[in-house]
Amino acid sequence: MIEDNLKRTEERIREACERAGRVYSDVTLIAVSKTKPVEMIEEAVRCGKREFGENKAQEFKEKYDLLQKDLIWHFIGHLQTNKVKYVVGRASLIHSLDSLHLAEEIELESAKKNVISNVLLEINFANEVSKFGFKPEEALEMVRIISKFPHICIKGLMTVAPFVEDVENNRKVFKGMKNLSVDIKRENIDNVSMAILSMGMTNDYEVAIEEGATHVRIGTGIFGERDYSI
Ligand SMILES: *Cc1c(COP(=O)(O)O)cnc(C)c1O
Repeated sequence: MIEDNLKRTEERIREACERAGRVYSDVTLIAVSKTKPVEMIEEAVRCGKREFGENKAQEFKEKYDLLQKDLIWHFIGHLQTNKVKYVVGRASLIHSLDSLHLAEEIELESAKKNVISNVLLEINFANEVSKFGFKPEEALEMVRIISKFPHICIKGLMTVAPFVEDVENNRKVFKGMKNLSVDIKRENIDNVSMAILSMGMTNDYEVAIEEGATHVRIGTGIFGERDYSI
């Protein structure tokens, strides 16, 4: 199942790239393995997958410690400051930097472990009360402040688009995120890259790619529906 799902997803990514005149290799498919057992991750690894996403600090740490060490891990969920220690030094990229307080904690933990933490600023683009992230209009100011933290390196932006019936309704969100990224890049801030734009999930990744996503985070489309009751 996982092998077929991966192939089908990669094919659709390829087609979205073609529609947008983009290069397939510019888009990274992150297999979101949250709630799924390590056996399923190992199966995806056997199919050639190397990049995985998790959204809960403790679950991530447990899986990381069990699995082979040459995988690339993306931390994509809201991170409480008391759990930063599980993530720093393990995740290759933290997509969900959503407050200055969290940045301060990541800085402290990274200094302690003598590592540089790569992060994306999470943007709550549609200003949803249920979501974490910076408002689009405060993003530039936050980038300026956090860029001065010696153990944090900003690599771009991330968003979780609203849940919509018709994915076309999210096109404006993805376009807006791309524009925001271009605007921040234009400021040429030291120690800041806007190379990564993490947006698009199982329901809307093709539209996200058409609008400039470099990283799509796909769970259900690869591993199947999640069961939260167990
Ligand atoms: C769960 C999750 C995903 C993947 O969602 P699917 O709809 O299953 O593809 C992507 N991004 C974040 C932040 C998530 O929490």
